Amino acid sequence: MTELWRLDLGQATLGLSSRRFSATELVSSALERIRETEPLIGACLAVLEEQALARARELDEAGYDETKPLWGLPIAVKDVFCLAGPPTTAGSKILANYHPVFEAAVVRKLKEAGAVIVAKTNCDEFAMGSSTEFSAFGPTKNPWRLDRVPGGSSGGAAASVAAFQTAGGLGTDTGGSIRQPAALCGCFGLKPTYGRVSRYGIVAYGSSFDQAGPLARNVDDLARLLTVIAGPDGRDSTASSREVPDYRRLDPVKPNELTLGLPKELWSADFEPEVAKILAEAKERIAAAGATLKEVSLPNLRFSVATYYILAAAEASTNLARYDGVRYGFRDGEENELVALYRNSRTKAMGAEVKRRIMLGAFVLSSGYYDAYFRKAAQVRRLIWQDYSKALEQCDLLLAPVSSILAWPFGAFTADPLKVYQLDMMTLPLNLVGAPGLSLPAGLSESGLPTGLQLMGRAFEEPRLLAAAKALEGVLPPVGAPSFRST
Ligand code: GLN
Repeated sequence: MTELWRLDLGQATLGLSSRRFSATELVSSALERIRETEPLIGACLAVLEEQALARARELDEAGYDETKPLWGLPIAVKDVFCLAGPPTTAGSKILANYHPVFEAAVVRKLKEAGAVIVAKTNCDEFAMGSSTEFSAFGPTKNPWRLDRVPGGSSGGAAASVAAFQTAGGLGTDTGGSIRQPAALCGCFGLKPTYGRVSRYGIVAYGSSFDQAGPLARNVDDLARLLTVIAGPDGRDSTASSREVPDYRRLDPVKPNELTLGLPKELWSADFEPEVAKILAEAKERIAAAGATLKEVSLPNLRFSVATYYILAAAEASTNLARYDGVRYGFRDGEENELVALYRNSRTKAMGAEVKRRIMLGAFVLSSGYYDAYFRKAAQVRRLIWQDYSKALEQCDLLLAPVSSILAWPFGAFTADPLKVYQLDMMTLPLNLVGAPGLSLPAGLSESGLPTGLQLMGRAFEEPRLLAAAKALEGVLPPVGAPSFRST
């Protein structure tokens, strides 16, 4: 019964349903793998060992239940999802001892489907970042090379899945935080349509962008998780009441039935040579399999970084106003006066990147600047949406790179935050538009690092996205298991 941690969600379900092993054995194996790999990668902020084992035993006592699609499966969730037990920190010191009294809708759905939450994974503070270096609790390392970042902000979730700690995890994607770490860690990640998944009980960053979604090691497992977490929720008015299809049972598509639009503004970016090489080979394989590749244009894409960083910062500054030292988490005890309490609590317990966003957001929303920045950005967001819709009139889905560079060495961009914002260029457009996107591994570089490709569709076209991704999954080279090399 060794090495059950190697199984993906589908394989594990087969083993559980045929009683080859128990939920307790599977969960114990995941916990063992976590213990073994955590000292190397530091993907988890909390490991829910006792809670998970107790839950697994409970499931075993009740017996396998085929009506629960995730019965007995160990799952890790990014530490922005509220649940009982360990604190929900969102990677911030200000929430270091915040114990929510409610549970995120998606966590409840996972549990109702029989999943066992085994860990809460690391992330950039309040999900602001692209490398997980901004976590107040220290960075997570990339399992392919320990001197490199795992991407972010859901870097812990991606590293954990890539390192086989669990076969599936949940992250959130406000501007790329599921797709980019998935690409840099060599796993699969899906950012659903805005409104497909409830945001209730998720620590908010940019409320008109945030969306939770799955990370896994293949397309089928993304579909399994999405089927469970998608759907309406009375406590989130933006969660769509549209029917949730069973994403696990989709009509297959062959590569030669696909017409994929290649946005030229993304494909002509300044790529690191190793990335360019992997992407060119991947493109060749996809074309050789019979897919029609067609150049399309998103003319306003060049404004997407500026637009996103204005709008997301504005929303962040509003959302983060609640962390005042009174209602949540950390409180500075030095001063008795109210304004000083607010100021000192926020000064001491928030990191530099979060402060930068709050300042920027408050500025673009301030009278005198609102029209010049916030309103203008909202208008440009609409133009990008129009470009996107027009491009999709000419093809089934868009196909684009996820990152222009491979996972970078720790600290490489600390002195230049704008450079990191620019790196988000490939992933932000989708969030501005609210559309769904799926990142899948495209191959490994000679230096042993993965990169990814993303498929992008129209709102609520997750079925098409998953079916196309499955077709490409069979064409692109599998990346396999990471080596945990230190250089
Ligand atoms: N890197 C982007 C940012 O820092 C996106 C983060 C995210 O998707 N949560 O805002």
